[in-house]
Amino acid sequence: MRLALVVTGVLLAVIVAYAGSCIVRPFRDCWCCKGRAHHRSKRNPALSRPCRWCRSSGKRLRLGRRAWNRARRTARAAA
Ligand SMILES: [Zn+2]
Repeated sequence: MRLALVVTGVLLAVIVAYAGSCIVRPFRDCWCCKGRAHHRSKRNPALSRPCRWCRSSGKRLRLGRRAWNRARRTARAAA
C-alpha cells in the first residue's frame, strides 16, 4: 500500500515536471534538420533546400504541448 502511494507520487511529480517544462519551452529542435531549417546536399554542400517537416522554421512543438493545444481546442469547441 505504501509502495503504491510512493509510485503514484513519483509519477505525479514526473508529469507535473514535464508539463512545466512544456510550458517553459514549448518548442524543440526539428528532428529532421536538427534546428537548421534547411537540408544540405551531401554531394554539393552549397546547395540546400527548406525542411518540409518544420516548414523551414527549425522548431517543432513538443508532444506535451501539442496534446495540451489539442485538449484546449476540443474544450473550446465543446463549450
Ligand atoms: Zn526541420
